[in-house]
Amino acid sequence: MAETPLAGRHALITGGGTGIGAAAAGHLSAAGAKLSLLGRRIEPLQAVSELHGGAVIQCDVTDPSRVAAAFDEARAANGPIDLLVVNAGIAESAPFHKMTRESWDRIIATNLTAAFDCTRAAIGDLLKSDNGRLVLVASVASLRGVPYAAHYAASKHGLLGLMRSLAGEYAKTSLTVNAVCPGYVDTPMTDQSVARVSQITGRSEGDARSAITNMNASGRLVDPEAIGNVIAMLCLPLSRDINGAAVTIDGGTAA
Ligand code: NDP
Repeated sequence: MAETPLAGRHALITGGGTGIGAAAAGHLSAAGAKLSLLGRRIEPLQAVSELHGGAVIQCDVTDPSRVAAAFDEARAANGPIDLLVVNAGIAESAPFHKMTRESWDRIIATNLTAAFDCTRAAIGDLLKSDNGRLVLVASVASLRGVPYAAHYAASKHGLLGLMRSLAGEYAKTSLTVNAVCPGYVDTPMTDQSVARVSQITGRSEGDARSAITNMNASGRLVDPEAIGNVIAMLCLPLSRDINGAAVTIDGGTAA
């Protein structure tokens, strides 16, 4: 296989400044892709760009007009989009009877509706590319319910519905549509979950971290590099017959 099988291809990553998005940036760049990195905070995007190159584009994915403009800026920097990684996401938790409509709306807007807007903004390019790739960063919360995070689980279940529908709709084209479903990953999102659990339950941060870590059957957090590696693998030309897959990367919990 070529050392840089994605040479010349333009990969746009939402939430590309931290965690899984930053790891995906590294793996896609190592395979030769040109990067466009989107997020709300410029500093983490710049740090990733310093390591792997790429256009840094400030964008709140919950603002559809900003998404359209940001995707145009990405095209101006790197040409038509061949590979789209829909990764930006947020998590919150609350018992259902205390869950607010604002929190529900925030989670659905960021994790699900923005996936629609970003995919719509890139679909023309993705279908024109000779190896278009759409990868949605879903979750094991796409596959089962999550007590105290009904909104998060609903948003991530929705992503799989979107992924499977588009995989079928475009099966006869050169675009593939897949999802990765990580368990708990060692990223800032999990750090925030640890802090939240510790604050709500009064447990130490160490105890909260082990409780979360032990929700993965492996008893360890997933390395974000492992997710970045699978995302890049799904983007390879050789992966053209992987379509409609939800790839679980969780240390065995879903087994
Ligand atoms: P991070 O918090 O590190 O990454 C989330 C990224 O999304 C950040 O870079 C953030 O950047 C960006 N983002 C959030 N909201 C917006 C917005 N409105 N507009 C643009 N960018 C936004 O955590 P992870 O790397 O863990 O999360 C990445 C994805 O992986 C998420 O979709 C998450 O649900 C999913 N996931 C994570 C798991 C875990 O255990 N950590 C497990 C399963 C799935 P900024 O704040 O600058 O906008």
